Amino acid sequence: MDIKTTLDNIKAIKEIADSTQNIELKTLIVDLKEEILNLRQENLDLKQQLSEKIKHKMVFENKVYWDLKEDGTKDGPFCPVCWDKEHLQIRIGDEYNAYPSGVYRHCYNCKNNIRIR
Ligand SMILES: [Zn+2]
Repeated sequence: MDIKTTLDNIKAIKEIADSTQNIELKTLIVDLKEEILNLRQENLDLKQQLSEKIKHKMVFENKVYWDLKEDGTKDGPFCPVCWDKEHLQIRIGDEYNAYPSGVYRHCYNCKNNIRIR
């Protein structure tokens, strides 16, 4: 059953509930509709994330991600936090030395400083 059919069914059920004047039933149906809309949004978000994941062959190397192209070349590096959390391919800044704590790269999207070594 697709989402439109489900929403149509909910609408039909709500019309029946409206005619019964049962407040509890009406409230439950409104909650149910809201839940379906939330699930639809979540589903869309997951589909988007999945297609990003399939589109890019990301390899984790030296604490950052690289996009492995079909010709064998690598594009990048990309922020590991942005990719792991949201599958966003965000280019990460150049290495900088924060002596004595280590060498870092900064992400201008999530604002994290990624320790490279
Ligand atoms: Zn980031």
